Amino acid sequence: TEFISANDLASLMNVSVNEVISACLSLGMFVSINQRLDAEAITVITDEFGYDVQFTSSEEENAVQESKDSEQDLLPRAPIVTIMGHVDHGKTSLLDYIRNTKVTASEAGGITQHVGAYDVTTKSGNKIAFLDTPGHEAFTAMRARGAKLTDIAIIVVAADDDVMPQTKEAINHAQVAGVPIIIAINKIDKPTANADKIRESLSKINILVEEWGGKYQSQEISAKSGKGIDDLLEKVLLEAELLNLKANPNRNATGSIIEASLDKGRGYVATLMVQNGKLKIGDILLAGAHYGRVKAMFDDTGKRIQEAGPSTPVVVLGLDGAPQAGEKIAVMDTDREARELAGKRSQLLREQSIRTKKHITLDEIGRRL
Ligand code: GDP
Ligand code: MG
Repeated sequence: TEFISANDLASLMNVSVNEVISACLSLGMFVSINQRLDAEAITVITDEFGYDVQFTSSEEENAVQESKDSEQDLLPRAPIVTIMGHVDHGKTSLLDYIRNTKVTASEAGGITQHVGAYDVTTKSGNKIAFLDTPGHEAFTAMRARGAKLTDIAIIVVAADDDVMPQTKEAINHAQVAGVPIIIAINKIDKPTANADKIRESLSKINILVEEWGGKYQSQEISAKSGKGIDDLLEKVLLEAELLNLKANPNRNATGSIIEASLDKGRGYVATLMVQNGKLKIGDILLAGAHYGRVKAMFDDTGKRIQEAGPSTPVVVLGLDGAPQAGEKIAVMDTDREARELAGKRSQLLREQSIRTKKHITLDEIGRRL
């Protein structure tokens, strides 16, 4: 069995994929970025970086495995979109414009503090869920924990700048994840904007936009004036249609944690994305090594809600701790089941942290690929 790609293994160990590839070379193995590695290769490579890998088969985890939905229960769901790109190219401004708020102004030093998620209804009346990640590192970290949270990636490139290192990295991460890309050429309101130069730079890294006869949708936009943004969203919806995204709203919810923290007044507060099924008040939620009954739920505007269907970001109160971003969530039938699974997982985490060697568990990833 092959468990994980060289690229994903690198991000789990927090090293660059190039380091992994050259370590492999020095061990006499030639691997490429997306190549899946078998247990032996993983053991040798991780040892090289000071990690001790544990391969778990964990029967109890199967209890949490999602059962298959039959075709007739599936209904269309909204796409989940991540905006990525080089720093200062306008990711936050674009999302702000789409949400019609002013997050940029309130951010300390203009750096995105939180991984938020937002529900947007386009002018054409369709829904899109946006993830606001502080960078493609978050995207990769979530993926490394097994979350496949993004259906479509918007790559923002500032027209008064160029395709930059983080632009290329973001494109690479989206491609490795198999997530379709739409290019947003931003800041076209600026006198120094040169969209053709961006299209040319993109073509040099094999991203040929439709206008140039390629397969990538792109849109010139201004996150400042809003020009082109409606068209961009329609292109997102077009891409989503091709993906034929579906979910079953009439089952217990599954999804992923986006962020979680301890709030003085409210206890543990978790933002999560419902990806399948419906999450309801009173549900017994298992999230990583934590669990709890859903005491209250809020939508992205802070409004109290009773239930949340597929592709809906929600803020949930009631967990007994703060799971990590990317941790998967599931609704369990009984308190006891949830408590036991959460307990086993946290014991595993404790054992891992007291070992001298750094430790990673490949089970989650292994089962996904
Ligand atoms: P991020 O780092 O990618 O999130 O970039 P921000 O959204 O914080 O934007 C960086 C800077 O570029 C801010 O000063 C924005 O006001 C500015 N900016 C973003 N989009 C546009 C645009 O379309 N036109 C102009 N003129 N400025 C923009
Ligand atoms: Mg930002």
